[in-house]
Amino acid sequence: MIGIIGGTGFYDPHFLSEQEKVTIETAYGDCQVFIGRVGRKKTVFLPRHGPEHRIPPHRVNYRGNISALKLAGAERIISINSVGSLHKGLAPGGVVVPHDFIDLTRGRPSTFYDDETVHVDLSRSYCEEVRAALIGCAKAHFKEVHEKGVYVCTEGPRFETPAEVRMLQLLGGDVVGMVGLPEAVLAREAGLCYASISSIVNYACGITENPLTIKELKEAVSANLGSMKKAVACAVSKIPEKRGCSCKQAPEEARV
Ligand SMILES: [Zn+2]
Repeated sequence: MIGIIGGTGFYDPHFLSEQEKVTIETAYGDCQVFIGRVGRKKTVFLPRHGPEHRIPPHRVNYRGNISALKLAGAERIISINSVGSLHKGLAPGGVVVPHDFIDLTRGRPSTFYDDETVHVDLSRSYCEEVRAALIGCAKAHFKEVHEKGVYVCTEGPRFETPAEVRMLQLLGGDVVGMVGLPEAVLAREAGLCYASISSIVNYACGITENPLTIKELKEAVSANLGSMKKAVACAVSKIPEKRGCSCKQAPEEARV
């Protein structure tokens, strides 16, 4: 079973065939998912920002969402999100499949392990098998695909200042978003594979002269949506049935 976390305009559960809406009770509250098929593969789709798409990035129930996907039977997760570019070389309209991240969020519950000491290994920050499927399929449907990139996650919901953008560049960031963390860490803690396909929708503040506008951001998101649907459907079919990666072992070996 493949899990898809949708965001950034990717909300329509009809992406799945034979889909049914299911409410899953988790230790972190109820979460609504859609279970159906993409091609022949059983897939569970979860809109990250809740059924009304209104929960802002800093209030998303990340622990509930990852728990719900695991309880629904998902072993491998594709995360769809949008990002701002920190470099002129990563132009809006393209996509990045990040290979690493920097977590600059604050004030979000960021672990499942509040009552015991567990240190998960993130030397491979994202699942290499899911990344490989996403890269191959993105290349078939997007003109510009960046196979690597460091995703910086900020707390939001505001955009960054020019000074913060310069800091993120110095830290080694390539793109900046508000939802990729702690999602990626929680998935690893839960022993699930997780990789992200990030749609570049704008330049971060100060990279170009033009100020960010929500209108432009929305237009960029909808321009990429058709290709994103095709790329994700392709990736669902290409992810190997058997897990050959090390994501699953992480939590058990990490317990102190
Ligand atoms: Zn994996």
